[in-house]
Amino acid sequence: MGIEVRNLTKSYGTNRVLHDVSFDVKPGELVGLLGPSGGGKSTLLRIIAGLDSADSGEVLLDGERVDHLHARDRGIGFVFQHYALFRHMTVTDNVGFGLDVRKVPRDRRDARVSTLLELMGLAGLGPRYPGQLSGGQRQRVALARALAPGPRLLLLDEPFGAVDARVREELRRWLRRLHDEVHTTSIFVTHDQDEAFAVSDRVMIVQGGHIDQAGSPTEILDHPATEFVARFV
Ligand code: ADP
Ligand code: MG
Repeated sequence: MGIEVRNLTKSYGTNRVLHDVSFDVKPGELVGLLGPSGGGKSTLLRIIAGLDSADSGEVLLDGERVDHLHARDRGIGFVFQHYALFRHMTVTDNVGFGLDVRKVPRDRRDARVSTLLELMGLAGLGPRYPGQLSGGQRQRVALARALAPGPRLLLLDEPFGAVDARVREELRRWLRRLHDEVHTTSIFVTHDQDEAFAVSDRVMIVQGGHIDQAGSPTEILDHPATEFVARFV
């Protein structure tokens, strides 16, 4: 299921953070938003998620405007660095949370949770608490939790920022594998070029509230569209 972003602008006071941003993500695509810190990536994701509002512009999911919908009614799953697991709940209950909220029957909920735990290499860890997991395992639980309700769109904002380099590389492979399995349309934010190029079908370079270039990793590396992109990659 695809997403269209049309002419989004956003200012915080006199600081214009997004300048007329437009792009599409095709159904099933995994797009990486890559750019320096402060470029507007998180703001863009929060607006799409409904956690913040734009000054003008539109967000459409499957051709339908969602700007007026509350975050929880958009069918969007997210994994943000600061959107932590529930510490007092087991892995199973964390992953099942979105299904419990939607009153999904117990047997279907349990089946969905075990499929996802299996998919993420977490089989057998269901009874544990987040404090009994490694950083990499916790992030995989967070991914499974976001995917459990079958979101139309998955947003990931620097989801692997807090783990060390080796685990980070492993998580990239998990994300890619998961995406190839589930095909949820996804937008993945990172300021790490290797990470963006390793994981994404298509990369968008974001800086100063603009998208400088959108293309495959090879297109961007071989034909940078702006001076900034040439220097950045
Ligand atoms: P990125 O995720 O690319 O690092 P952000 O979207 O977080 O960029 O930030 C873009 C700009 O918006 C920065 O100048 C930042 O200081 C500003 N900004 C972000 N959130 C807020 C906020 N809630 N209030 C005021 N300024 C903000
Ligand atoms: Mg950010």
